[in-house]
Amino acid sequence: MSDALPRHASTVVVGGGIVGAATAFFLADRGERDVVLLERDGLGSGTTKGGLGGIRHQFVDELDVRLSLMATEFWREFSSFTGSAHDFEERGYLFIAETAEGLAQLKEPLPLYERLGLTVEMLDRQDIEDLVPGIRTDDLAGGRICARDGYGDPLAALAGFAAGAVLAGVRIFEGTPVQGLVRAGGRVTAVRTMKGDLHADRVLLATGCWTTPIAATAGVAVPIWPYRRSIMESGPFPSLAGIPMVIEWESGFHFRPTDGRQRFAMPNLTTDGGVEKGPGAPPATFDALDFAPLEVPPSLEPWVKARAARRHPAFADLRIASSWSCYYEMTPDDHPIVGRVPEVDGLYVAAGFSGHGFMHAPATAQLIVEEMLDGRSTTLDISDLSLERFRTGRRPFTATVL
Ligand SMILES: Cc1cc2nc3c(=O)[nH]c(=O)nc-3n(C[C@H](O)[C@H](O)[C@H](O)COP(=O)(O)OP(=O)(O)OC[C@H]3O[C@@H](n4cnc5c(N)ncnc54)[C@H](O)[C@@H]3O)c2cc1C
Repeated sequence: MSDALPRHASTVVVGGGIVGAATAFFLADRGERDVVLLERDGLGSGTTKGGLGGIRHQFVDELDVRLSLMATEFWREFSSFTGSAHDFEERGYLFIAETAEGLAQLKEPLPLYERLGLTVEMLDRQDIEDLVPGIRTDDLAGGRICARDGYGDPLAALAGFAAGAVLAGVRIFEGTPVQGLVRAGGRVTAVRTMKGDLHADRVLLATGCWTTPIAATAGVAVPIWPYRRSIMESGPFPSLAGIPMVIEWESGFHFRPTDGRQRFAMPNLTTDGGVEKGPGAPPATFDALDFAPLEVPPSLEPWVKARAARRHPAFADLRIASSWSCYYEMTPDDHPIVGRVPEVDGLYVAAGFSGHGFMHAPATAQLIVEEMLDGRSTTLDISDLSLERFRTGRRPFTATVL
């Protein structure tokens, strides 16, 4: 780390979450010099610190599955690429369905997985019990698993990317908010900070759910908004240590082991106690975004305890030792915005991952670096993720926000 902000950089990455850190790493890996990453607070202090760390292939849109395939190749070899460990455990995502309708929905994408060479299996109750000994199955219609799914540690991965980037010459400045973008005609020329302007050939906004206001300083409308979600963690919990990520398809409740504990993710609850699996419609305007306070709603803990005890007797006396809330960074189609900003040369966005930005970070970073350095992404066509789609029309995405 250094505190003398340079006056010029080839590329400025704004935002030190998993996406910004991974992009800085890939820029350096491609031999790019004079890369600077600016983080307003500390590395990982945004959404990345709050995530569950899940890594899955089981999406229903082909592009998402392809991004996962690309990303997990990297996650598997993370230590040889970055020199750091990141605790990737390929233990699978086990979706369980209580209804025949839910089971039919789980079966729907099987042809897609088969076409892409991804092994995904449907399971009966016995298979589920074999994977998660003791789990209640009498209320289940069946399940689905992809053994290549798993989970990792978002902050450890971020630290690995950042360390690799710094060792390759990237300069990282924490405590350095970007106050605005400086434009000269149709080009971005600098970012404005309290320490002065930093001129740049390219600027990448990897600023998560805070991207909309910063992009607006360059006259660019970006439709990303924050949606609060929560996580809970048990006290020491030695049993169920090696199980897959278990997801109740209908309720959205899920859990997985981590470091001798169990970690739980859950949908939001409505005021009348109903389940809200994802946000509804986007806000009417993006001018004054509603950043709900990051407090865990008190109604969640009893709901989680009841749900957990109902699913597995080992959770009968569950003690929640810690809990936290963080923001999903939503877009109107639950898919990220990745690519150049058409009306401002040199300006790029990689944000709005709608609850799955950790798992796709290595793929996103590699592809946005290809756009920046080669003019377009060549490993995988990501033009469907461009900001333009919200202006000129877009193909429908099928999203699965968990
Ligand atoms: C409860 C929960 C569970 C989740 N579970 C999963 C999961 O299982 N799997 C998965 O893949 N994803 C999951 N996610 C989503 C994942 O955590 C995010 O998609 C991912 O962390 C986004 O990373 P990012 O780098 O885009 O954003 P962030 O981590 O938010 O990073 C953006 C950074 O930009 C900085 N910044 C903002 N404005 C400025 C500025 N003006 N100047 C300088 N810096 C600025 C912020 O301080 C922040 O550090 C979950 C999220 C939540 C909330």
